[in-house]
Amino acid sequence: MKRDYEYIVLGLGGLGSGAAYWLSRAAGAEVLGIEQFELGHVRGESQDHSRIIRLSYHTPEYVELAKLAYDAWGTLERESGEQVVLKTGGLDFAPRDSKIPLDTYRNAMRACGVEFEDLDAGEIMKRWPQFTLRDDIVGLFQEQSGIAMAARANEAHRTMARANGATLIDDTPVTNIITRGNEVTVETAGGNYSCRKLVIAAGPWSNRALGHLGIELPLEVTREQVTYFAAKRPDDFAPDRFPVWIWMDDPCFYGFPTFGEAGPKAAQDAGGRPVTADTRDFEPEPENLRGVEEFLSRHIPGALGPIIHTKTCLYTLTPDRDFVIDTVPGHDNVVVAIGAGHAFKFASQIGRLLSELAVHGTSSIDLSSFALDRPILTMKNPPKNYMQ
Ligand SMILES: Cc1cc2nc3c(=O)[nH]c(=O)nc-3n(C[C@H](O)[C@H](O)[C@H](O)COP(=O)(O)OP(=O)(O)OC[C@H]3O[C@@H](n4cnc5c(N)ncnc54)[C@H](O)[C@@H]3O)c2cc1C
Repeated sequence: MKRDYEYIVLGLGGLGSGAAYWLSRAAGAEVLGIEQFELGHVRGESQDHSRIIRLSYHTPEYVELAKLAYDAWGTLERESGEQVVLKTGGLDFAPRDSKIPLDTYRNAMRACGVEFEDLDAGEIMKRWPQFTLRDDIVGLFQEQSGIAMAARANEAHRTMARANGATLIDDTPVTNIITRGNEVTVETAGGNYSCRKLVIAAGPWSNRALGHLGIELPLEVTREQVTYFAAKRPDDFAPDRFPVWIWMDDPCFYGFPTFGEAGPKAAQDAGGRPVTADTRDFEPEPENLRGVEEFLSRHIPGALGPIIHTKTCLYTLTPDRDFVIDTVPGHDNVVVAIGAGHAFKFASQIGRLLSELAVHGTSSIDLSSFALDRPILTMKNPPKNYMQ
């Protein structure tokens, strides 16, 4: 087997599969992707049927990045012939004095020329009678929001990477990384590989991978969970009748139309406890589930029903919840991305940015907010703010 490549991608979850695809468009057979488990495994962050994709974000930078995300998914859809984004429209709603101010979303979208509708409780309930809302609740509706079909998109990225000539291997943990001059050596139990540029997309294992380069970031890995409910009338929650939604308060809840399973899905954002990727378990947490059920019973009662199942999943959180997308300081031939618990919608675009950094050493957009050595990431015990 070929052992020397131009580019190696460490980790083939959401972001790494995206990077493998975009690199393969540039360099075909000079791309190797290495995954420690089987492809499509559920121990990381990126599997399940659905993730929310939206232009509605709290800063113009994220809104602009989200525009590029739709564009990147569009390229994948055209080249693969697979649909990976389903637009349902999205509702962000909250009490007028919510902890996550809707005004930051309004302002960011206005600054980027993104249209949205301001709706009061009555207007929301008129449009979607599935909601039961108090008078003090208001919402923003943005029609481009919807579902990024996570598992299907990952598969499409990898299938296209292979079609372009890339080699993807699974069940192969990377055990060490050595950078020397213009070469990176990647050690695995199956032997060593070398490359000119390494892309690290290790999700909850990021600190272990970066540790080989002497870097440790103040990341928190949390174990999150999502629940599918057998609603009495699942068709009321069909994607053409019900939007993706986010409750913009603390705690923050979010949910999806019926998609991929026989009923709608709902969850609490950043409601899980800190774990490590290697020692976490897969048992649902009853208290977290109770919070979601209580929220639904108050605001979307028809979405409740017997539990179809609860899936657990990991977030890799930076203290400011901003991404890391950067060349690793001191290691010019290594680039890295960390998703901060909201990156799936950007998986293809982040893959494209990683590919740009690896191939050209620069990116088409300013990535300084996502620098690996930004001040908060140099702190040992930084203040955390996961609500944005
Ligand atoms: C419950 C939940 C809901 C979410 N909802 C949304 C949402 O609605 N919208 C949104 O945009 N985002 C959402 N996210 C966040 C999003 O899913 C993640 O940010 C994104 O999937 C991160 O992908 P990743 O590639 O960084 O991590 P992963 O998918 O975990 O991939 C990392 C991969 O690297 C591999 N790896 C690690 N170390 C090694 C090694 N040494 N050798 C070889 N392979 C290695 C791992 O096995 C893994 O496959 C959600 C996340 C969760 C958990």
